[in-house]
Amino acid sequence: MGRQMCELCKDRRAALIRPRNRQQLCQQCFFVAFENEIHKTIVDNRLFKPGERVAIAASGGKDSTVLAHVLTELNRRHNYGLDLFLLSIDEGITGYRDDSLETVKRNEIQYGIPLEVLSYKALYGWSMDEIVREIGRKNNCTFCGVFRRQALDRGAAKMKADKMATGHNADDIAETVLLNIIRGDIARLSRCTAIITGEEGALPRCKPFKYSYEKEIVLYPPSMYYLYSCVGTYSPNAYRGYAREFIKDLESIRPRAILDIIKSGESFRYALTTKMPEQGTCEKCGYISSQKWCKACVLLDGLNRGLPRLGIGRTRGKSSSATGIQTDNSSSDKQTSIRNDKRILKPSLDF
Ligand code: SF4
Repeated sequence: MGRQMCELCKDRRAALIRPRNRQQLCQQCFFVAFENEIHKTIVDNRLFKPGERVAIAASGGKDSTVLAHVLTELNRRHNYGLDLFLLSIDEGITGYRDDSLETVKRNEIQYGIPLEVLSYKALYGWSMDEIVREIGRKNNCTFCGVFRRQALDRGAAKMKADKMATGHNADDIAETVLLNIIRGDIARLSRCTAIITGEEGALPRCKPFKYSYEKEIVLYPPSMYYLYSCVGTYSPNAYRGYAREFIKDLESIRPRAILDIIKSGESFRYALTTKMPEQGTCEKCGYISSQKWCKACVLLDGLNRGLPRLGIGRTRGKSSSATGIQTDNSSSDKQTSIRNDKRILKPSLDF
């Protein structure tokens, strides 16, 4: 049996069934619908202001590659007036990052927007390959995630960005809601569904794909990117993977489950008695932190002292002495590049 006609144009044969609502569309109508939905998300949530300089966090993966393409296109089509550039982090993971950075370099040429690449090695004095040699493959994602978040903020500050756009999609956000419930992390749960975070600081982050399904991002112009994954390299046991599998199972039975989990996360109300961490700044590097030192400085200090497991696990409520933090700066020459940043950053710790 042949495919039915596109439900929108009624002129061409449907080429796909939209995962989010089972609508049967031709390829052209799907692209237009997808782009219009992102435009609506941007406008309805006032994600950008005319004249803003926006860093697109670019990993070379599917989400950020499609984000770079769509933002460039919408910026031109709707005259957003944004000054866009690509910002990439080289974690120093042999066999993964080298290839994906090539994609980002191609995007630079394709979309005609500049690219800035910062490496863990330059910022922290350690590549992920070196960190894994110290810590093994169990907790390496903790280092990588914390360092990347801060590295992106530092790169954006260096490039004088007003805002950062990330490729987090609806699946990512639904996973994060579930993970924060499972961990009982009320502080993160309270902010993980926000489409803009860190507005109180120097560098707000926004998520134009907040309501976009991963399966639709993959469908949007196919063959624009290659699927790179570090999973086979360094994250065989990443906790998030279990939540991802669970969400995928739910989605296969009821596609709306993804948006409904986000809606539930948005609708939670928190008791006034819930104790939230007070945000301050890290004494060592000036990055936002609810502790004396931010997580990146704690992890880095552990690495530099030959005690890489020092900062693993929760530090909430622990004093610096409990985490073994030295309060003098003498031990960490590798902190120098961090402290040299003049701008005090107050982005969100995560999304
Ligand atoms: Fe880094 Fe882990 Fe992601 Fe690999 S899977 S890039 S080690 S956070």
